[in-house]
Amino acid sequence: MDARAKRIAENESRFRDINERLRGDLSALPPADEQVAFVCECGLLDCAQPVVLTLAEYEAARADSVEFVVVPGHELPDYEDVIAANDRYARVRKHPDSAPIARATDPRRPGAS
Ligand SMILES: [Zn+2]
Repeated sequence: MDARAKRIAENESRFRDINERLRGDLSALPPADEQVAFVCECGLLDCAQPVVLTLAEYEAARADSVEFVVVPGHELPDYEDVIAANDRYARVRKHPDSAPIARATDPRRPGAS
């Protein structure tokens, strides 16, 4: 086996390992309608309250970099608008002035590790 073939095979194995680990993590996720305790994402520095969401609700907010989920009453109207709410959580959308920070720090942004 020449050096190039060896390198390709090693790369294939490495990516397969990564995929297998990813697959394992996905199968451990609870069903989309199961309620999960996340942490409140409000801007209050001393807040450590749980916010209970279904995975589907969490994913709906995560689909947009400028949306966050908070405990009801933890909205900061000077900085964000409430776009959905129920007795468990409020989904807020950052005002445009701070949206760039929310986008730049999104762990799901393209290129983020
Ligand atoms: Zn909070």
